[in-house]
Amino acid sequence: MPRTDAVLADPRLGTAAGRLGRALVKAAVVRAQERARTGEIAPGEVADAAVAGLPEHATTLRPVVNATGVLLHTNLGRAPLSAAARDAVAAVSGCADVEYDLATGRRGARGRGALDALRESCPEAEAVAVVNNNAAALVLAATALAPGREIVLSRGEMVEIGDGFRIPELLAATGARLREVGTTNRTTVADYAEALGPETGFVLKVHPSNFRIEGFTAEADVAGLARLDAPLVVDIGSGLLAPEPLLPREPDAASVLAAGADLVTASADKLLGGPQAGLILGSAEIVGRLRRHPLYRALRVDKLTLAALEATLRGPEPPVVRALRADAADLMRRAARLAKELNAHGVAADAVAGEATVGGGGAPGVVLPSAAVALPGEFEPALRERCVVGRLEQGRLMLDLRSVPPSDDALVARAVLSAHSARPAAVGGEA
Ligand SMILES: *Cc1c(COP(=O)(O)O)cnc(C)c1O
Repeated sequence: MPRTDAVLADPRLGTAAGRLGRALVKAAVVRAQERARTGEIAPGEVADAAVAGLPEHATTLRPVVNATGVLLHTNLGRAPLSAAARDAVAAVSGCADVEYDLATGRRGARGRGALDALRESCPEAEAVAVVNNNAAALVLAATALAPGREIVLSRGEMVEIGDGFRIPELLAATGARLREVGTTNRTTVADYAEALGPETGFVLKVHPSNFRIEGFTAEADVAGLARLDAPLVVDIGSGLLAPEPLLPREPDAASVLAAGADLVTASADKLLGGPQAGLILGSAEIVGRLRRHPLYRALRVDKLTLAALEATLRGPEPPVVRALRADAADLMRRAARLAKELNAHGVAADAVAGEATVGGGGAPGVVLPSAAVALPGEFEPALRERCVVGRLEQGRLMLDLRSVPPSDDALVARAVLSAHSARPAAVGGEA
């Protein structure tokens, strides 16, 4: 068995150590030695096996193709960044003038470019701020505007977002008290009005972004709540800055502010299609109070987020918006082309119509007509290992193309063909 030091002397591994760090390279060598010990490879093959087993990047996070048909998949990192945003992130990942004015040599306003872009994208906002995510925006609003006081909230909007994250619990954790009004299915402006008093910090309206109540329902509208004698904060959830015609029921910041809300909070990595961040838009007075609160410093975003956000706001349509607007007939043509290519290599693939969703806390109940490449279900683990995640439907693996950027079609085909050629007899089935 070649010694670890001797294997590490291989120049290919030396180069890799410079790129990935010695620990990751050493781990690859140890794995290769283990394979030699069990007789899987010859001792003379250890160096080659270690090189082949090197990770591509020095992170265990791996890029994934989201073929689930859920455009915003929280487990897969929500919104994919646009090419412009990725570029911007790479450009500033060294030192950057995030808080430095190159014209004067003095300290500069942190994140000015991103904040300007956000305000220009939503002129209805007098002022804006950006924090880590929408949950942080809510924590900041509750802490700065209702310390030890009441947040008036409808019982129909006591929402759990996912993985045990409940908005009422988050708000209560700040020390604010929740004043629940109305019922699960019906809450009127009068219900809120009756609850207001000297203890009121603000009225909060939360978009029920992942469920819908139907039937005998009533919901207080923003304009009605804005006329009450208390600040109105609206959590719109998905980060639309302006109305999206394809999602008429999804609230947007511009309309909500125009209807009189004092503050809007939203996620930047949902329908806006940007990096994870919490957007805060509203009156200069209230946004100013949030920005001056000591907690703001603990929730601020870094230069990578600021760069990605600015590039998302100023750059071309991000992938999520393209996916949302993609024409179903075009998706079917892509599916047919892929299926044909796979068939030519002996893979039992069909192009089928399907249904995609927005997901990630956006547009509940909205179905987007889509198209998928359907494969035998046995492909599922093999493709997952190759970082292509689809959805199983009645025993078949659907690779839904609405959530896959067209530029990734070739990647999907390569992954399927690689899984097909590596299959132990059963995988791939008979065409
Ligand atoms: C998604 C969502 C949140 C949480 O946003 P994060 O950016 O994930 O912290 C809060 N409120 C609503 C209505 C949401 O949809």
